[in-house]
Amino acid sequence: MSPSIPPERGFQLRYTPSPSGFSADFYRHCAGGELRFQRCSACRTWRHPPRVTCGRCSSEEWAWEASSGRGTLFSWTVTHQALAPGFAEDVPYAIVVVELAEGLRLVSGLRGIAPEDLELGMPLVVEFVPVSDAIALHCFRRA
Ligand SMILES: [Zn+2]
Repeated sequence: MSPSIPPERGFQLRYTPSPSGFSADFYRHCAGGELRFQRCSACRTWRHPPRVTCGRCSSEEWAWEASSGRGTLFSWTVTHQALAPGFAEDVPYAIVVVELAEGLRLVSGLRGIAPEDLELGMPLVVEFVPVSDAIALHCFRRA
């Protein structure tokens, strides 16, 4: 008897997160139209990806705080070959690293800007693409 694969773990035309724990909280905020990150209550340092302890002061006291959703283009890479069929119509597309106003860097997608038009430091602003009631994906467009 072969093991069964839950539908959410099976092959997907487009990969989407199946978050749990802190990550589920992060994507739930995105579904609500907010980009929120953990911020240490002791030293006020932002952090991402989510985790229990502050990397700066080791405090375990923190809260989800809203980001401005604004930042600048720190780096990017361009994908020219779709490795999953659901991305075939998107290539070439850029995956970007955005340096947010809060100092965090976030790997994200891009909307409305062709890869050849990207420039280091260009101002970007977040937007959200709903996937379900519990998840939205963040992406960025020109501010
Ligand atoms: Zn801290």
